[in-house]
Amino acid sequence: MESLKKSNNSIIFINPYAGVNFDIPNVGFAYIATHFNVKVIDLNTKRYPKNRFLKYKVDILGISVQSRTYKEAIKISEIYRKKYPSAKIKSVSGIIDIQCCYPYVEFEDNIKVDIPFSDNLPFPDYELFDSFDIFKKNWEKNVWNYPIMTSQGCPYQCIYCMSRNRKYLTRSPENCYEELKVAKERWNIKSFSILDDCFNVDKKRVIKFCELVKNLNLSWSCANGLRADKFDEDVAKALKESGCSHISFGIESIDDEVLKTVKKGETSKEIENAVIIAKKYFDSVNGFFIIGLPGSSYEKDLKSLEWAKKMGINAHFSYYVPFDKGMQYDLLFYGIGAKPVSKTYPKGLQKKIYKMTYSMRPVQPFITRIINKLKGILK
Ligand code: SF4
Repeated sequence: MESLKKSNNSIIFINPYAGVNFDIPNVGFAYIATHFNVKVIDLNTKRYPKNRFLKYKVDILGISVQSRTYKEAIKISEIYRKKYPSAKIKSVSGIIDIQCCYPYVEFEDNIKVDIPFSDNLPFPDYELFDSFDIFKKNWEKNVWNYPIMTSQGCPYQCIYCMSRNRKYLTRSPENCYEELKVAKERWNIKSFSILDDCFNVDKKRVIKFCELVKNLNLSWSCANGLRADKFDEDVAKALKESGCSHISFGIESIDDEVLKTVKKGETSKEIENAVIIAKKYFDSVNGFFIIGLPGSSYEKDLKSLEWAKKMGINAHFSYYVPFDKGMQYDLLFYGIGAKPVSKTYPKGLQKKIYKMTYSMRPVQPFITRIINKLKGILK
């Protein structure tokens, strides 16, 4: 795809509306846009005007298509093709293959960047996004967290997870530190959030990262789930001392049979121990759970819910989406519009669990904004 870099074709990228994670930029797309130095119309964070991409008459329209934005991407290509029939419309993929559990997918005509995720990549330049002002304002005010991926992929085998069994690729702690330092100097970020599939695969690497970022005086969080069996007092202490204020564990279920069926490789005892340690160090601990996993039942999911309450943690329950559903067709497993598809037990009961756990989720971004505004007024 180096030819694209050198060609004289006019080109613009589009990030479609996803309906979730409007406070998190499309990191994979940002890497590719930076590689080509192409502007991005970001319809997920800057929703309106919806069809502003029609202002640009280009030779190539590149769309970032994730499983959750497939239909939106098709809609965009149809609207664009109607107005500019000679334009080439391509999906854009590469560098990062999954973000926040949703895989990037490809149209038949695709721009693929075959560069491995590593220290050799330039840092993502979010100024290429037309939503950048929104991100900057919220990063500066500490309402949203700057996103960073320090690794991608995961060597574990959990059967429900898109990230499983993928090559585990890491950046050095020094390179990640440098990205955050630059983001602080350039965009005045106050906090960051780690979006890795599994940040704590390698304890030594985590501790080194903590030692370095401590110097930046930023608050930070682990947005995606950590592995409980890799979490101990050393890790908790290092995270806490470096400014980490919120962590999450990928728990899924507290039933040992279910954990075994889904090949989690952890026991409920290990999970409980990790949560007990985490609670000593962090005010805010979150667990990710999945409703309707193979081998689960309404009673077992209810048991997980009660356990989360007993442990005093936030709990984020999402629906299980089996792989035979392909994850290709706008199936959301969390967020507005998410619906149960698992046949493990009646969907009505899965919905009941989902509803019961709604208030147990970590504070939503817009509520955080309101709280921060109120704090400002009351000062
Ligand atoms: S450890 Fe986490 S990221 Fe890795 S396969 Fe299991 S759920 Fe997925």
